[in-house]
Amino acid sequence: MSKSNIIVGGFVPFTTIDYPDKISAVVFLQGCPWRCIYCSNPHLFEFRKPTQQDKENWDYILNVLKKRIKTLDAVVFSGGEASVQAEEIITAVEDIHSFAPYFKIGLHTNGCFPENLKKISPYIDWIGFDIKAPCHKYYDITKVKGSGERAFESLEYLLSQKKDLEVRTTADPTILTKDDIKEIAKTITQMGVSKYAIQRYRPVDKENPNNPKQSEIMQFFTDKDFIDEIKFIVKNLELRF
Ligand code: SF4
Repeated sequence: MSKSNIIVGGFVPFTTIDYPDKISAVVFLQGCPWRCIYCSNPHLFEFRKPTQQDKENWDYILNVLKKRIKTLDAVVFSGGEASVQAEEIITAVEDIHSFAPYFKIGLHTNGCFPENLKKISPYIDWIGFDIKAPCHKYYDITKVKGSGERAFESLEYLLSQKKDLEVRTTADPTILTKDDIKEIAKTITQMGVSKYAIQRYRPVDKENPNNPKQSEIMQFFTDKDFIDEIKFIVKNLELRF
């Protein structure tokens, strides 16, 4: 019988891209306090209390994980913002480890709740951490005041704990410039981050005539001088486009 009252908003039972070098399942959790202009998961914004259906959803996922115990290496909690459900993640990890103690646990987070990350950090093996912008530009993306300060506080804490992590930035050309990406790369490198990924921006509404042009979206991946500069700053750079 499962312990966790986790509220799941989605589930991918098999992926090779969400935990480095591992075959993983991804559990998307309900709830996010930010309102990023490029969010592709607005259905996960809402905070709500768990229901009987949520319990059944989690039991279903545990059953799938049990059946795939020989093919999976890891389970990743993503969002929404997974750290919203800190207590529930801890009991969910206990549920998973009750039958698969060797499963690695990953977390995708935006760092919006530093206190929650402190609670769950001991249960997490690897973290994919979103740094969305230089601190002073966070509001332009998240529409929440103080979001940048919280994100960088969280990152600083996780680095102080020597957690295995990757920082990633979605290169939204409507807000971010190449100089912004350089500023992020310098800041996180000074903080002690060695793995950085720049991710391609994908418009939420593909048909919107106001979307940036492909050349604007791809400028972060096609400008060799810019890429060389970032590679000079960070030890390990990945371009995802
Ligand atoms: S932090 Fe993630 S889930 Fe939350 S609004 Fe931004 S993109 Fe969407």
